[in-house]
Amino acid sequence: MKILIVGDGPGGLSAALFLAKMGLEVDVFGKDETPMHKAMLYNYLGIPEMTGPEFQRVSREQVSKFGATLHDVKITEVQHNDGSFAVQTETGERHEGTHLILACGPKKQFAEALGLKAGEEGNIHVERNGQTEIKGLYAIGWTTRANKIQAIISAGDGATAALEILSEKVGKGVHDFDFMD
Ligand SMILES: Cc1cc2nc3c(=O)[nH]c(=O)nc-3n(C[C@H](O)[C@H](O)[C@H](O)COP(=O)(O)OP(=O)(O)OC[C@H]3O[C@@H](n4cnc5c(N)ncnc54)[C@H](O)[C@@H]3O)c2cc1C
Repeated sequence: MKILIVGDGPGGLSAALFLAKMGLEVDVFGKDETPMHKAMLYNYLGIPEMTGPEFQRVSREQVSKFGATLHDVKITEVQHNDGSFAVQTETGERHEGTHLILACGPKKQFAEALGLKAGEEGNIHVERNGQTEIKGLYAIGWTTRANKIQAIISAGDGATAALEILSEKVGKGVHDFDFMD
């Protein structure tokens, strides 16, 4: 299994964290241009206050530490061929994966290019765990919730989609619990 994640805001990074921590190969694409860089966080449970840039810095470091690869590039095209996915970078590289997570914030062009439709309210429709109607394709965060745009919600969506992919891999529900010594 190789997971491609387009988008490096709280949603994409959270999905990458869970997947990489559980040993999957994960590639995240984005130039760290999330609107989080304008935010001052007081509403992220467990973090009394933190600037958005600091949240991004810590999150990117955490995700890298668990082995995900962060690619500092934009994606220009996504493809779905016979059950696998490919993304094309602005620098001309092509990456292939078994799964694709769209975590592009308000931008829906890739979802639409793959045949998904936004509803009247502007959201890409997904199932409870972020699955789209295309097997292996997930959409999370802002892309799917134009009326509930919060960092913690996108991060939760990312975690949920990751656990769904991990559960598919092992054939039963997966949780990621760590214990104190
Ligand atoms: C001024 C402001 C203040 C805010 N304050 C708060 C706050 O206090 N608390 C709070 O919870 N939320 C706040 N938010 C909202 C918060 O920023 C969003 O909820 C959060 O960023 C959504 O995360 P996401 O991962 O779903 O999408 P995003 O953070 O939008 O992440 C999407 C990422 O995908 C990348 N991307 C898009 N297209 C491509 C492409 N083609 N190739 C590669 N990468 C791509 C983008 O650059 C971006 O990095 C604020 C927003 C703004 C604008």
